[in-house]
Amino acid sequence: MAGSALSGRIDTTGTAAGALPIALFEATTDCVLVLDRDWRFIYFNERSQDELDTQDLLGKTIWTSFPDTAGSTFEEVYRRVAKNRVSETFEAYYPDPLDAWYEVHAVPFHDMIVVFFRNTTKRKRASEALLQRYNELDTVLSYARVGIMHYAEDHRLVVINEQFCRILGRTREELDGLPMEAFTHPDDIPWSAAILAKHRETETPFYIKKRYIRPDGEVIWCSVAVSFVRYCEAEEPATIVVAREITEEMEAQQRAEETRTLLQSVVDSAEDLIFVKNTEGRFVLTNERMRSQFGVMPGEHEGDRFPEEAGRFRAEDDEVISSGKRLVVEERFPAPEGTRTFQTIKVPWQRDGEIRGIIAISRDISERVKSEAALRESEERFRLAALATEDAIWEWDLRRGTIEWSSSSASLTGEKPGNSLDWWSDRIHPDDREDVVNGILRFLESGDQRWERQYRFRRADGSHGIVFDRGYLVRDDDGTPTRMIGAICDITPRIEAQERINRLQAQLVQISRVSAMEAMGSTLAHEINQPLAAAGNYLLGLGRIMAGGEPDLAAVQSGIDQAHAEVTRAGEIIRRLRRLVEHGSAETRPVRLAEPVREAARLALSQAADVALTVAVPPDMEVLADPVQLQQVLFNLIRNSADAMRGCAEKAITIEAERTGRDVCLRVSDTGRGIAPEMSDRLFSAFASTKAGGLGVGLSICRTIVEAHGGRIWAEPAPGRGAVFAFTVPAAPADSPPPPAEAG
Ligand code: ADP
Repeated sequence: MAGSALSGRIDTTGTAAGALPIALFEATTDCVLVLDRDWRFIYFNERSQDELDTQDLLGKTIWTSFPDTAGSTFEEVYRRVAKNRVSETFEAYYPDPLDAWYEVHAVPFHDMIVVFFRNTTKRKRASEALLQRYNELDTVLSYARVGIMHYAEDHRLVVINEQFCRILGRTREELDGLPMEAFTHPDDIPWSAAILAKHRETETPFYIKKRYIRPDGEVIWCSVAVSFVRYCEAEEPATIVVAREITEEMEAQQRAEETRTLLQSVVDSAEDLIFVKNTEGRFVLTNERMRSQFGVMPGEHEGDRFPEEAGRFRAEDDEVISSGKRLVVEERFPAPEGTRTFQTIKVPWQRDGEIRGIIAISRDISERVKSEAALRESEERFRLAALATEDAIWEWDLRRGTIEWSSSSASLTGEKPGNSLDWWSDRIHPDDREDVVNGILRFLESGDQRWERQYRFRRADGSHGIVFDRGYLVRDDDGTPTRMIGAICDITPRIEAQERINRLQAQLVQISRVSAMEAMGSTLAHEINQPLAAAGNYLLGLGRIMAGGEPDLAAVQSGIDQAHAEVTRAGEIIRRLRRLVEHGSAETRPVRLAEPVREAARLALSQAADVALTVAVPPDMEVLADPVQLQQVLFNLIRNSADAMRGCAEKAITIEAERTGRDVCLRVSDTGRGIAPEMSDRLFSAFASTKAGGLGVGLSICRTIVEAHGGRIWAEPAPGRGAVFAFTVPAAPADSPPPPAEAG
């Protein structure tokens, strides 16, 4: 290099360049070069020589040495500095061969320009790369829907991405300088501000879930990460906030929580035992019933709580877990209040497609099992009862209007009975039908519980039998009739038998009367013939004596005496005969009076149900009598009373007994027609009767029997209407042995 005293420097002796502080230029870390007024290089310090490869450049102009400066920022600034003599700083790029960025400080010095510069390519590239990375990051984070905000002191924003603006519903400009409180949900301000303050102090990052609120009032849930960056010790740390919107997540979580609470309360309010166990037999969930009745809490192991049953439970659970199918078991199990029967349904508990254990619901069915057993038992009893009876048992479902009949019904109906009410009513005798059907319908509305009715019913053979039908009405809790259960019994044979007995009894009485009369009649014919014939002869003789004039009075007297004696003899014969005919003389013993009275009334009134009977006989009153004959007397009197009341409106018979001295006096009074006047003095004579076809021997027999007992019989004048017949029999002595019934 021509004339150069020092490397990189033109000889400047005697010029202004001589004043350049070369030593300083050499010592500085920047590159330094100096241009003279003609744009020629007159100095390079060592660093600039390295940077620019300045070998032949001293003395040459910048424009020729670095042609690309023409029209560039370099030329523009240098010329301005040369002109204005004011230093300027700029950064610019110089292409090949340098291909570098320079930060340049151009300083005017006398008529020269001192250029301080440094290669900033590396820094520049780094910050460009950084910017690009940031842009990429921003794109990615925006895509990931994450909001990023970086703010410094006084909430001055350094960075905020699109997403955060969108979350907060505000623009970057609106948010710049806005404190967190301005866009945080009021409920979340106090606690989140406290956390922020605390962590800022220690500069430790934290993570929270909080709600932001947009200007339109919409609430946005975010998961927020906050960290702090310190660029310089003196300053406050900057804050970086990364927020991810989780509103949907939170809502879903809230819904899930609500569902969980709802489910828990449903499970807890269940009467059943509900529990979940894992595959190891540990309770994961137990409902309220399970906790209160058995004290089983989640976390407990079945083996600890139910050591004896655990094996059985394990086997059941394993079956459910291995098969993946539900299992229903009925098992007896010791509960605090004794052994109970449970029905348990177990199903696999699945999560993420994997069986984690079992879910079980256990119902206490003890009461049901018990009542089912009771029902079976009562049904069995009912079935047996129905088998044991010939009655047709029926059950009328009033709601459905159907009737079920027992199998025993077929013996009455001769066929399988139909289920309708019509089937039954069709078989009722037409004359009874309306009355019976209306009667039962009225009964249903009456509020009574028992119904009974006798009616004629068509039997299997088509004939009508007399049935006795009884029903019992069942009501529900409201009192509405729901069912009626009853039985129909064919009482035809019983009624027919009773009628036969009555007929026989009437015949018997008739026969006894007729035979008594016949016996007496034929005996009379024989026995009385003789004394009457003798008496007749005496009377005939007397007639002749009287006709002959001058009668012998003594002879007449004798004839009369003889005739009287014969007639008296005939009367005596009749009396004796009566005694003979009427069972001979009485064989007496102590008899409790009430018994023959009751029996006689029953027989005498069997065909006269409309007669009101009053018996006033002390239950322990006893007489000395032949009970059969005593009953016959009473029978005749009661029967006569009943006959006398035929056609009368009021029909009442009273039988009374009273002690009169050594006797007992019995009275039978009635409300009949009364004794016919023409009968009054012939009542007890044989063949005296006012009845068509009457024999007129009843009272006569009564007198015979009463007198055979040493008593008397008479008719009393009746005070009102009707008749009163009274008789006496000896009272049983106080120390007499008891009647046979009691003697036993
Ligand atoms: P019979 O009953 O066959 O007529 P009784 O000797 O039993 O024979 O009765 C004789 C008559 O006495 C009856 O026909 C009747 O006129 C009358 N007599 C009996 N008992 C009563 C009575 N309780 N009320 C009215 N008259 C009666």
